[in-house]
Amino acid sequence: MTTTHILGYPRVGEKRELKFALEKYWKGESDVNELRHVASEIRQKNWTLQQDNQLSFATAGDFAWYDHVLGTSLLLGHVPKRHQNGTPDLDTLFRIGRGQSQSTCGCAGHAASDMTKWFNTNYHYLVPEFSSADTFELSWTQLFDEISEAQAQGHTVKPVLLGPLSYLYLGKEVEEGFDRLSLLPKLLEAYQAIFAKLEQLNVEWVQIDEPILALELDAKWLDSFKGAYQTLQTNLKLLLTTYFDSITDVLPTITEINVDGLHIDIASSPEQLSTVVDALPAQWVLSAGTINGRNVWRANLVEKLAALQDAKAKLGDRLWVATSCSLLHSPVDLDLETKLSTETKDWFAFAKQKVAEVNWLAKALDGDAQAIAYCEQYSQPIIERSKSTSVNKESVQRRIAGLTAKDAERSAAYPERAHHQKEVLKLPLLPTTTIGSFPQTSDVRKTRAAYKRGDISTAQYTEIIQGFIKDTVERQEKIGLDVLVHGEAERNDMVEYFAENLAGFQTTQFGWVQSYGSRCVKPAIVVADIEREHPITVDWTTYAQSLTDKPMKGMLTGPVTILCWTFPREDISRETITNQLAFALQDEVSDLEAAGINIIQIDEPAIREGLPLKARDHQHYLEWAVNAFKVSAASAKPETQIHTHMCYSEFNEIIDSVAALDADVITIETSRSNMELLNAFEEFNYPNEIGPGVYDIHSPNVPEVEWIEQLIEKAATRIPVERLWVNPDCGLKTRNWSETEESLKHLVEATQRLRTKLA
Ligand code: GLN
Ligand code: ZN
Repeated sequence: MTTTHILGYPRVGEKRELKFALEKYWKGESDVNELRHVASEIRQKNWTLQQDNQLSFATAGDFAWYDHVLGTSLLLGHVPKRHQNGTPDLDTLFRIGRGQSQSTCGCAGHAASDMTKWFNTNYHYLVPEFSSADTFELSWTQLFDEISEAQAQGHTVKPVLLGPLSYLYLGKEVEEGFDRLSLLPKLLEAYQAIFAKLEQLNVEWVQIDEPILALELDAKWLDSFKGAYQTLQTNLKLLLTTYFDSITDVLPTITEINVDGLHIDIASSPEQLSTVVDALPAQWVLSAGTINGRNVWRANLVEKLAALQDAKAKLGDRLWVATSCSLLHSPVDLDLETKLSTETKDWFAFAKQKVAEVNWLAKALDGDAQAIAYCEQYSQPIIERSKSTSVNKESVQRRIAGLTAKDAERSAAYPERAHHQKEVLKLPLLPTTTIGSFPQTSDVRKTRAAYKRGDISTAQYTEIIQGFIKDTVERQEKIGLDVLVHGEAERNDMVEYFAENLAGFQTTQFGWVQSYGSRCVKPAIVVADIEREHPITVDWTTYAQSLTDKPMKGMLTGPVTILCWTFPREDISRETITNQLAFALQDEVSDLEAAGINIIQIDEPAIREGLPLKARDHQHYLEWAVNAFKVSAASAKPETQIHTHMCYSEFNEIIDSVAALDADVITIETSRSNMELLNAFEEFNYPNEIGPGVYDIHSPNVPEVEWIEQLIEKAATRIPVERLWVNPDCGLKTRNWSETEESLKHLVEATQRLRTKLA
């Protein structure tokens, strides 16, 4: 019989129970027992589900109070110095995740650890901090307690553990000149102690995650695997687990590692299956990660079954069936969706449904006739969908098929455009502007919610939102900004708003996925060819423009960002989806322009995070991503000024592509790094205009005029002053009005001082 398992299940709960319990606890409105109770109920439900679906194992160790990498740090007794204070408890864990301000503990404050993206997902983990004095010591019993808890409920438990090399690799040194890999021997002692405890708990298999094997590792890291796993002596069976990309490059290294099996992700790279099957050491099992843990689509089980047949014939019961990665990255339960049509609902599978898919697929693989029939029937809706004309729209496909290099080019090059734009816009030296959103007050949010519920009519809604726009425009005029925005009061989220207004997307009620800590996101799903059926932003923007003589900047979310922050289709490429979005946005650009809007910003904050895991795949991605952005802007006349915005600071890697976007103006985040980012522009002569963010909107602090002045001067040493803009770091939606107005007044004053100085 085929062995089945999943790599992990969402821990937030089907209705985000953990989120609400955590936030209640943090506010002091509940005690730790209540919090623990909610968590154990979630775990119990998750394990029961795996049992009900006859999986061979219930996976434990996938639960995390805040983040599983942070959980691993606690397990290893590896707590940053500033957070050490006796035996760590849950509050220690939360402090590392969330930080603690001066006011609450009376000392200098305990900054949270850095957070960064978990590989190429939208999940964020807490970065372990390493220095030479670090020690590892087991005192945190969560993993062992949860294994016992599951066993007490009658489950055969397979714990999951982040492996030692990935744990080290994903962290960072906090000591000058220190190499964290030198901690490996000490760390292995701790893993050895963990293994001893797992043996005592009568665990047979352990899923040891080493996802870094799917990266292009330096020899130094790669060569450490063999020795490390040789050192670990255990009677446990280890399933070396990889995901998110292919590992065939490093297969010779992997097969030398002292483990008992390998898990590979064949949802992200199906082609690696046969190579791995042929190279698999004779005693190993192979866990085939077939059911995609990162998307919401129902699996075509007929196809999946066919893809596994050959491996099954060669490996027999040594072939296991599994999800590609942890289901952490998919929403929890499709059954909760009451507003989807039956047709649409049959296209999807969330975490709960994916567990069932694993079971049916394995049964079918074992030749169970009922399971085979089920797989056929289950796959029908997906197969029919691929032929449907409401999914595959002729008009959209014709446009994509006709896409040529010309569609991505504006009618004039930047120097000529800049000349026209100067004439039309008549902007002063160092023009000032903002990134788009203004404070989303509770009135703003309440208005949108009331409209969504149907409590107010469209006419009423329009009038109230126009009121917010008018107020926002008046405030900007008073502050003295040069290029104004309408403020985005109608948008809950920069991607969701466009997903709701373009044809081809489906939104859900409960499709939440953990992003970090208690924070979840609910991405829309691309379900069909994307079309713009009506103008989206034109009315709001022209209304705003009618209130002022200053230029009003139209505000769009770029095609790559929309792609990165939604669940994509799997039946067409990400490139094709992005091109469809690009054409839809191009039409919006044309309509804004025709309505008299002379400046249009197309935000692309996600362009960098869309990068594939392996550097060798970067170029291809960047080419089509840049091209799609350019298509969205290409219809703009030379005198229309196209802006773009990106808010992260690791720019160096993609600077050529950023320049290749050929936006007339780019605004970027720099203030937190004290303009360090501009070093990237030192060697690279950025050809167009640029607005390095001069203050950090993530903090409530109001920046001093002198401080801003000095930052602009610093920027002017790298970018010719004629091509410099002055603006905050990012959108202001999370700030309140008084901070915002004060900060922007300082920004304008600093700019004026410099203009006088330069004149
Ligand atoms: N225009 C958006 C805003 O101002 C940009 C947000 C972002 O960069 N993430 O909110
Ligand atoms: Zn931003």
